[in-house]
Amino acid sequence: MTTPVIELREVGRRYDDGPPALHDVTLTVRPGEAVAILGPSGSGKSTLLNLIAGLDRPDAGTVTVDGVRVDRLGEAGSALYRRSKVGMVFQFFNLLDDLTVTDNVVLPARLAGMGRGQADRRARELLETLGIDRHARTYPGRLSGGERQRVAVARALMNRPPLLLADEPTGALDTAAGQDVGRLLADLNADGQTVVVVTHDLRLAESCTSRTVRIADGGITEDVRSHAVAPEALR
Ligand code: ADP
Repeated sequence: MTTPVIELREVGRRYDDGPPALHDVTLTVRPGEAVAILGPSGSGKSTLLNLIAGLDRPDAGTVTVDGVRVDRLGEAGSALYRRSKVGMVFQFFNLLDDLTVTDNVVLPARLAGMGRGQADRRARELLETLGIDRHARTYPGRLSGGERQRVAVARALMNRPPLLLADEPTGALDTAAGQDVGRLLADLNADGQTVVVVTHDLRLAESCTSRTVRIADGGITEDVRSHAVAPEALR
C-alpha cells in the first residue's frame, strides 16, 4: 500500500475553554485522490486545514503528511514542510500586487533555494500549462479574478508539492470563473495531483472531486466516494 498523503488519527483541537473545534477526527487521503471538505460555518474546516498545513498543532492525535509528522515539527521544520509538501490556494488569492506574475510564481522556489534561471524555467512551464503565459510580466492587479486564481495555483505548484490544499478557491469568483477553476483542479487531479478542497460550493465539489467529507460540530459525519471525475466530461 502506498504512503497516504494525509493521515489524521484521532485528532482533537480545542481553543481556550470553548467546546472542541475538532474531536476524534480520523481521515486518510491517498495519493491521487481529490477530496472535498464540506461543512457549515464554524464546523471546524479551517481548523482542520490549518492542522494539515502545519499552521497549528492538535491537542490530541497525530497529523502525518507524506510521511512527515506535522504535529511534531518545530518552527524551522514547519516552514520547510510548508514549502516542500503543501501548495495552498486561498479565496482571495494572496498574491503580492507589487510583484509581476512570474515573480509571484517563482517565490516559493526562490525561498527554497532554487536558482533564478531554473525557477524562471519552471514558472514559464507552469504558466504555459495553466494557459496564462501571456501574463508573465503583468502585475496581478491587472488580471481578472479567474486569472489571479490561476496564478495562485501556479505558485502553489511551483515546488511540486505532494498535496494541493485549496480553501474556498471559488469564493471570490463569478460563476464562469469558478467553473474554470473547477476544471483546472480536475485536470490537475487527472494528471495525478492530490487535491483537497474546503468549500461551500457544491458545484465545485462535484466538478473536481470524487470524495466528499462532511464535517459538523468538529467531527466527520459523512465520507463518501463518488464516481471518478473525467475532466473531459465536464467541459
Ligand atoms: P469553519 O472553518 O468551518 O468555519 P473553524 O475551524 O473556523 O470553522 O471554527 C471551528 C470552531 O472553533 C468555531 O466554534 C470557532 O468559533 C472556533 N475557533 C476557530 N478559531 C478560533 C480561535 N482562533 N480562537 C477561538 N476559537 C476559535
